[in-house]
Amino acid sequence: MGEWKCKECGYNIKADAPPEKCPACDKKCEFVDTTCYIPDCGNTGKDPRL
Ligand SMILES: [Zn+2]
Repeated sequence: MGEWKCKECGYNIKADAPPEKCPACDKKCEFVDTTCYIPDCGNTGKDPRL
């Protein structure tokens, strides 16, 4: 299970894959993977897009 965030509106969704269209924007948005946002995953530093 991953976590995705809409780059347009910041909507967060938990799913295996990013949805085809954002439930909040109701259009095709670009989603960023926020799974590695948690420190435990070994990824150092934050994604600047978040
Ligand atoms: Zn959105």
